[in-house]
Amino acid sequence: MGGVDPRSKPLTCCPACASRLIYPLSFMPHTSGRVVIDRRCPECEHVDRVACDPAAAETWARREQRLRLELVHAVLDLEIAAALA
Ligand SMILES: [Zn+2]
Repeated sequence: MGGVDPRSKPLTCCPACASRLIYPLSFMPHTSGRVVIDRRCPECEHVDRVACDPAAAETWARREQRLRLELVHAVLDLEIAAALA
């Protein structure tokens, strides 16, 4: 753990518990032209580091952004519903 695994791993799937909730903590450009991503699984606390090409990193970043927005909206909806109840 800690090093960059050159093998390609499924980006959005936890290697420890297969959870699809694993999310990126940070993106770092690498000298190789790839992007190094630290990621964390909220279900089993697995943390590792993967390298992928910039396009894949961007796709993942966008997906995460969208998921978080949806989450925020869902929470807001609940709060509004609670406030109106
Ligand atoms: Zn996991």
